[in-house]
Amino acid sequence: MKKRILVANRGEIAIRLIRAIQELGYEAIAVYETPDEMSRHIRIADEAVLLGDGPRCDYLNIEKVIRAAKRSEACAIHPGYGFLAENPYFAKACEKTDIVFIGPTSDIIANLGNKVVARQIMAEAGIPMVPGTQTLKQGREGLAEALDFAGHYGYPIMLKATSGGGGRGIRRIESDAEMKEQIPIARAEALAAFNDDSVYLEKVIVNPKHVEVQILADSHGHTVHLGTRDCSIQRRNQKLVEIAPSMIKDKKLIDEICETAVRAAKAARYLNAGTVEFLIDQDMKYYFMEINTRVQVEHTVTEMITGIDIVRNQINIAFGKPLSFTQDDVQIRGHAIEVRINAEDPKNDFMPEGGKKVSVYRSTGGFGVRLDGFVYQGYIIPEVYDSLLVKLTVHGFTWDETVGRLKRCLQNFAIRGPKTTIPFYMNIANEKDFLSGDFDTSYIETHPHIFYYDEDSSEVGKLSRFIAEIQYRGENPFAK
Ligand code: ADP
Ligand code: ADP
Ligand code: MG
Repeated sequence: MKKRILVANRGEIAIRLIRAIQELGYEAIAVYETPDEMSRHIRIADEAVLLGDGPRCDYLNIEKVIRAAKRSEACAIHPGYGFLAENPYFAKACEKTDIVFIGPTSDIIANLGNKVVARQIMAEAGIPMVPGTQTLKQGREGLAEALDFAGHYGYPIMLKATSGGGGRGIRRIESDAEMKEQIPIARAEALAAFNDDSVYLEKVIVNPKHVEVQILADSHGHTVHLGTRDCSIQRRNQKLVEIAPSMIKDKKLIDEICETAVRAAKAARYLNAGTVEFLIDQDMKYYFMEINTRVQVEHTVTEMITGIDIVRNQINIAFGKPLSFTQDDVQIRGHAIEVRINAEDPKNDFMPEGGKKVSVYRSTGGFGVRLDGFVYQGYIIPEVYDSLLVKLTVHGFTWDETVGRLKRCLQNFAIRGPKTTIPFYMNIANEKDFLSGDFDTSYIETHPHIFYYDEDSSEVGKLSRFIAEIQYRGENPFAK
């Protein structure tokens, strides 16, 4: 029998994983919840197992997922990103049942999932990082520690959930009064979201660039990096546009950051694919922020510029194989940009457009274009999951060529039914600071004009309106 791997995820990443599994000659087992019945990942898998009615709770149910793996005779599980990917108990449960967890060990996930423990490990290894506190003590003692730290570094100060992730659990504090008020609120929110009420403080780096380094580490002692990504274009600390490599021209600095990332990974005894995140301040000083112990949404841009299939390598590493290439074999070619096309209305505070039917879906294509999606014409977007429909990644030889390709693709991409982020990205692709590669995490705030577009008169709107009309009339436009 062929080796079988269970994919414990949904949406575009489930499809991405299934593709890699099938390309390796293995069989892919999908799992799903009832509200997700229409998802294409179920159709392309070799077998699909209904976990339950969900929503979300079954994708997160460790016992059910493991049971599905055993029943379908899967020998390994790939968790993707989100859901169980960074849950040390899930990795532990796999370790106990001899199912290969495609990722680092449960100990590594537990250590790095706790931002304070991760910082401790990095401090011991001499990795530069943002000044910060230990986990704050409860009650008045904790507040005293916080006010002391703020007194030393001055406001603004970042209050962070120790177990936070996905851009949540981070707040900027401007005064002693706010600190006093916000610590209990942050704790309560962290407890609800991450099942851990611990918080700590970091100095705020003002308008930094977010630069991260992709790492692959095998179980034979080889750790390599696949260069940098810039994910500075964010909203509420969540990434919207990702590029690779970083546009920072100082090659020495970039090499140093990449070497530091490898050192950080080694200090954590890292295994499998991971990402070391850094902030870079306006004086080009860099600071370790965290290590993400999973495949990331934006891994596609790195794959495009290196030609290295990160998911394939994750699977091979998990099965104990050594990396088939060395650091010297990793060559960065050209530039890549990824945009997350979400069913959201950017003008209405990115309100999700769940519940709507995709009445028209006409994707783009051509040279240097990659799509990672899972929806199709007629698909009804469930309200209970995130709103990512498709990731558009373009690759080009020069930056200008890559941006030109992005614009061409956004223009030719027609999605009707839900509002999407396509016209918003079109405005970014036409904006001069984006074109010059000069942006930091304040980009969205400082460029409010990117929210000005008219869906129906933009070129993006014109094409989808044209296709929608034909569709509704059931006519062949070329017959006339
Ligand atoms: P990236 O992979 O680029 O870092 P995000 O930070 O946006 O992307 O996270 C990817 C996905 O994983 C999102 O759907 C996000 O909501 C989810 N996610 C990330 N971290 C956590 C976490 N600690 N708990 C729950 N969901 C998370
Ligand atoms: P998550 O685990 O949610 O991804 P991170 O610690 O990686 O959280 O931070 C996410 C984003 O929040 C960063 O990319 C950055 O924009 C912002 N951020 C986090 N810490 C700081 C800081 N100390 N100073 C300035 N910005 C920060
Ligand atoms: Mg992060």
